[in-house]
Amino acid sequence: MSRNPVVKVVKPPEQEEQLACASCARLTSHKILTAVTEEGETYGGDIQYWEQYWTVQCLGCKTLSFCNRIRTSEDVGYDEEGNLVPEPTTKLYPSRLVGRKKPEWDTELPFQIYRVYDEVHAALCNNISVLGGIGIRAIVETVCKHQGLTTGNLQNKIDGLAAAGVITQAGADILHNLRIMGNTAAHEVKAHTAEELGTAMDVIENLLMNVYILPERARKLPKSKPTTAAPTKKQNAPTTHGAKKPSTPKPTITKS
Ligand SMILES: [Zn+2]
Repeated sequence: MSRNPVVKVVKPPEQEEQLACASCARLTSHKILTAVTEEGETYGGDIQYWEQYWTVQCLGCKTLSFCNRIRTSEDVGYDEEGNLVPEPTTKLYPSRLVGRKKPEWDTELPFQIYRVYDEVHAALCNNISVLGGIGIRAIVETVCKHQGLTTGNLQNKIDGLAAAGVITQAGADILHNLRIMGNTAAHEVKAHTAEELGTAMDVIENLLMNVYILPERARKLPKSKPTTAAPTKKQNAPTTHGAKKPSTPKPTITKS
């Protein structure tokens, strides 16, 4: 692409950069720790480019990541006074979107669910909108399959999830909307807006939390145990129907 690029390890710029932080899930100040620059021109010398490669650190949570800022002689716009100004492109690695932090429980998902969720999350963070829309439908499809609903079309399967009590009817209505969203992405190659995809992903994460995470966590909770001694035959059991439940008798230990 380029011919004889000039690459230099340079002193990191002292200014802080406002970048999206994957951990903080918002724009935060980042310190530039290391910097390499590259400049050159494309074949024929038509376009000049200047690139900066930075190792950056969020000044809030201290997370390290990588930033690539590219400016070319073609990437220019106009400021409010009509002057030409450069319009660089910034890429962050790992890719991330402001506000689209992965939930801390994603690795607790069944692997086949996690794999498709992870890919869709990456698509959204990289603004791959058409595949993101198709992927959201694929997550719904995978959840249905994982729940044993394998016959009929996706519409039937979502209704099956509601009938089985896995999701509420309101949840099914939302999934039908996501199904239709995925259909338009796949069949009409329609790219949904970042806001639409973000809302859809919020719904998906809620679904996954309710179907896979909360039931598993509830199962691990300690079962309720009696906290007071059980009434003996000489004592009367509580007769009120209030908050206190009658406790079960303790086992009698007899010495042999
Ligand atoms: Zn941070």
